[in-house]
Amino acid sequence: MTALIGPALLAALRTLLPRACPGCSAQLGPQPGLCPACHAALRPQVQAHSPLRPRPEPHLVTLGPYSGVRRRAVRELKFAQARDLAALLGGALASGVPAEWDVQAVVPVPLHPARQRQRGFNQAELLGRALAGALAVPCVPALTRTRATAQQARRHGAQREDLRGAFRAHEGFLPTGAVLLVDDVLTTGFTALACQDALLQAGAAQVYVAVVAR
Ligand SMILES: [Zn+2]
Repeated sequence: MTALIGPALLAALRTLLPRACPGCSAQLGPQPGLCPACHAALRPQVQAHSPLRPRPEPHLVTLGPYSGVRRRAVRELKFAQARDLAALLGGALASGVPAEWDVQAVVPVPLHPARQRQRGFNQAELLGRALAGALAVPCVPALTRTRATAQQARRHGAQREDLRGAFRAHEGFLPTGAVLLVDDVLTTGFTALACQDALLQAGAAQVYVAVVAR
């Protein structure tokens, strides 16, 4: 349906039609995003283990595994440009970012320009803006994709090689201090790792990561 009527119209329709909660299908009524029960189930946690660190160290904030309400919310965000959901998810993530990380800016993982033209928006950027707003820091487009990466490589080997050097960070956008890299989902971690490498190379003091689910 998205391809037929376009993402902008779909986003507009979402705000007009009676909606079901993407988490549990309960009728939503006037409140945006998720029903209160699903919203309450979004609890941020800080994790110390991921492919982004050679040794365990708190560096990743997530709302939990890619299942249930998180999985359905991410899918809704991706396919319907659900800004109300982005605000809820971004707000929940922001409440879990430890103050001692002293994050100075939020950096969304970019889509390849061709993919962004096709979809009309970048869900990581929607999340990033919401997160940045809640943390009262800027959301900066510091990363660009230098080339398209193979879709199929997502699930198969060679993905890490495919992503090496696929991102470039622009130091003019980077603040002094730590940045928070934002994406919807962390699976193998190779994308986030390639982004982290690019940000560190461009002079970021520290890179923390926030994802809705992993
Ligand atoms: Zn619900």
